[in-house]
Order: sequence, then C-alpha cells, then structure tokens
Amino acid sequence: MNTQNKLSRRDAIKAMGTLSASLLLSTSAQATTKLSQPASHKKVKIVIAGGGTAGMIAAARLGRSAPNAHITLIAPNKTHLYQSGQMFVAAGLYIQDDNERKTAELLEDKVEWLKEHIIAFHPKNNSLTTDKSGDISYDYLVVALGVEYNYEAIEGLNKDMIGKDCIASVYANDTLEGSATGGDITDQWFKEIRRHAQKKKTKIICTEPNTPIKGVGTSLDILFLGNDIFRGKGPFSKRNVVKNIEFSFAKPDNTLFPFTKFHTVIEKKIKQEKNITPLYEHQLKAVDAKNKIATFLSNNKKIDIAYDFLHVVPPMRAPKVFRDSPLAFKDGKYQGYMNVDAQTLCHKEYKNVFGLGDILGISLGKTGGSAQEQAIIIQDNLAAAIENKPLPMQYNGYTVSPVKIKFGEVLLAEFNEKKALPTFWIDPYKPRWIWWELNLHVMRKAYFSLMMRGMM
Ligand SMILES: Cc1cc2nc3c(=O)[nH]c(=O)nc-3n(C[C@H](O)[C@H](O)[C@H](O)COP(=O)(O)OP(=O)(O)OC[C@H]3O[C@@H](n4cnc5c(N)ncnc54)[C@H](O)[C@@H]3O)c2cc1C
Repeated sequence: MNTQNKLSRRDAIKAMGTLSASLLLSTSAQATTKLSQPASHKKVKIVIAGGGTAGMIAAARLGRSAPNAHITLIAPNKTHLYQSGQMFVAAGLYIQDDNERKTAELLEDKVEWLKEHIIAFHPKNNSLTTDKSGDISYDYLVVALGVEYNYEAIEGLNKDMIGKDCIASVYANDTLEGSATGGDITDQWFKEIRRHAQKKKTKIICTEPNTPIKGVGTSLDILFLGNDIFRGKGPFSKRNVVKNIEFSFAKPDNTLFPFTKFHTVIEKKIKQEKNITPLYEHQLKAVDAKNKIATFLSNNKKIDIAYDFLHVVPPMRAPKVFRDSPLAFKDGKYQGYMNVDAQTLCHKEYKNVFGLGDILGISLGKTGGSAQEQAIIIQDNLAAAIENKPLPMQYNGYTVSPVKIKFGEVLLAEFNEKKALPTFWIDPYKPRWIWWELNLHVMRKAYFSLMMRGMM
C-alpha cells in the first residue's frame, strides 16, 4: 500500500466517528422524529412480546414517548444476540462472544422484564398467557417475536444436522435461548472445504428457501467471502485453492436480490467470479446427507444434484404461538405472520396492538435495520393511539443489506419495494471499502450502545 493510500484510509477511519454519527442521525425512512418528545403522559400498561432487536428498541423508545406508561417486556433470552455479526464469525473476523450481551445490561431499568415464554394470545380480552405468570393483561401490546427456523420442511434435514456431514448454516441460532452456533460452524465448514479443495475439485451448493427470510443477502456473503477465503485472502493468508471450487447458488425464484438494480450489480460480480453458477427456480426439497445429494423442485420436476458441501438458509415462519393466534394472517402468502397495516404497523383488527421486526406479514423488512426504522414509527404511533389521535407516522418499507462483495468491500443495499433508499448521497450501486469498515467496526458497537437504547 502506498503512503497516499495509507494516509487517506487513516484519515477516513478517523472520520468514521463523524460518518457513523451522521448515519445514525440520518433519515432514510419517512421517520422524522428519531428522538421524539414525550407524546403521551397517560399511565397505561404496555406489554412488549419479544426481547430481540425489535422488542428491545421498542422498549427504549416507548419509554421516552410514553414516559408514564408501565412497560413489561416478555422474553426468556438472558443473552441478547447481534445476529448480523454471525457472518463475521464465519469469516474469522469476530468471535461469537463479540455478538452477545446480557439482556439485563441492555434493558432500561424502568422496564419490567419477565423471563418467560408466551404460550397464548387473547387479543379480544386484551391479554396473553405465559408459562409462569399465567394471564397478563395490557392496554397496548407490541409484538416482536421474530421468526423460527423450519429445517424440517426439507425432507431428510433437521436442525441437529447443521455442523455435521459437510452441511452448514450461518443462520443457526436460538433466539429463545440467546445462543448461536452458525458462525463457528460455518467458519469450520470453510476450513474443511479448503482442505478438501487442496486435493480435488469441490462442489458446494448454497440454497435459499421459498419462504420470507431475515437478513436478506447473507447467502451472497457466503459465496463472495467464501471465494476470498479459498483464494487465501482475509485472515487466513493461505494457499489459493479457488480453482478447485465450484459454487452453485440455488434460488427458488429468478433473481439474486429482491431489488432489480442491486441484482444487476451482484449479477455482474457473480460473472466476474466465474466459479459461481446461479440455479434459478430451484427449491431445495430434500437432502440425502449420507450420499451427499440435494433434491430440488424446478419447473415441477425433481432434480438430484450431488455436492461435497452444502450451505442451507433454513425455511422460516412465525413462531407457533403466534401462528395459532387471532393476530396472524389466516391464509395467503403471509399466513402465520402478523396482520398489520404495512405503514402504521397497527394490527388491522385490534387497534391497541402494534408489531415490528421479522414477525410482520409485509414484503421485505426482515432486517435489524428495518426493525430500527419500524421502532421509530411505533414510538410515535403508539403514543398517539394512547391519546386517541390519528397515527402520525408511516413506515416506508426500508430494508438494508450490507452485501459483502469481498474482504474489504461492501455493497450497502438500502431499498424498499420501489426504490433505493440510500442514507448517504453517493452512488448506492457501488461497493465501497468504507461500508466494509462501517459494517465490520462501527455497526456492532452502534447496535449495542445506541440502537438498543433507542438513540439512532
Ligand atoms: C445470519 C444472519 C445475518 C443477518 N444479517 C443482517 C444484516 O446484515 N443486517 C440487518 O439489518 N439484519 C440482519 N439480520 C437480520 C436481523 O438479525 C433480524 O432481522 C432482527 O434480529 C429481527 O429482530 P426481531 O426482534 O424481529 O427478532 P429477533 O431478534 O429474532 O428476536 C425475537 C425475540 O422473540 C422472543 N420470543 C420468541 N418466541 C417467544 C415466546 N413464545 N415468548 C416470549 N418471547 C419469545 C425471542 O426470545 C427473542 O427475544 C441477520 C440475521 C441473521 C440470522
């Protein structure tokens, strides 16, 4: 690296503080009051179901917009996971401990925390039931239960097989327990592939399910960072074995990314890589782990493809307790997910119930960045509902995916269904090292120290 480069990079990293501050304060959604003034002083009872990304931010923000409300958060996980960091564990750049904090340390003191499992919702009675306390009533309910994985929807596969027989999933975690193994499993998987590829041609299949998924773009990280690892780049600095690697990327639909212009950038990158073949309209139906054969449904035909290594993004669905509740969509493409107005985030039938995070039955929006934007909407809309006023805020579908194009470069894809929603006024379609630095060094710290406290 020449001196000029060194200087400019160092200067830029120094400027990162300013940059992240502006990122945190910038307005990418239609939210205009990120640090709102209290909007209701009434003494009401708010229950928040779930203590992941969405529930925790909602608790912090509602504590400000409804300062006299009694807020109870119900979630069993004593450890809080920064799930976005699991990919950096897989890439050998974080350890899993970096992604974990005690829930108690992140939660505002005035929020009551019940470390319990919700076992039923009764919105007609304004109550829910937990495994320990029984029935709990509320004036307002905020649902933030996230999603559960359903590996078993793939014949021959179950969650205990992840990490065995050359099968990995960087997604592997348990939000109810607050534990994650996916990063370490995938790190080991990459190492095993390297060893295999030193001797012979190695076929890897990466799959995505036909359900909504959280953390859109994570499979692309596996492909691109994987290739760099096999080239001997990143923290590994080993022999280049990439000539022996063949990746297939099996997608049930016919696009690499849910927003066309980002798809185009990613498609170009995939063509440059040369060893990645997209398999469009290929839905993983079955895995024969013993014989290393993955069976796909493609154009109504079953196709068997042999692999040496398999990475699976699990099918996802709303947690059972929610799927079975009156708050869920009964049928249609969001069956089991929360039936909210996609803009106000208020339940369509029960007007004292709001929702945010992965549980929502809306297109896109299953990212931590979306939960952050949705919490801003709920902060003001719920306070307005308490005051019997019209709901002032509307979520615009903001979704974010920092696609790790290579070690040292990220394509910061910020978008909704209709358009790109870049936080910064620079070309959003260009991968940049500065987004990598932000993603790797700034976002996790900002997540724990600012986002969790409703400060960004
Ligand atoms: C590998 C990976 C990479 C990702 N990458 C990114 C990224 O780069 N950028 C990004 O923005 N997002 C990313 N995400 C997505 C992001 O982590 C999620 O969108 C976000 O965590 C959603 O928050 P949530 O609160 O809705 O759900 P979660 O954070 O999953 O929390 C769910 C909560 O509900 C609780 N719960 C569930 N059932 C019950 C019950 N019956 N009773 C009580 N509590 C219950 C759980 O204990 C937990 O507290 C990634 C996710 C993964 C797994």
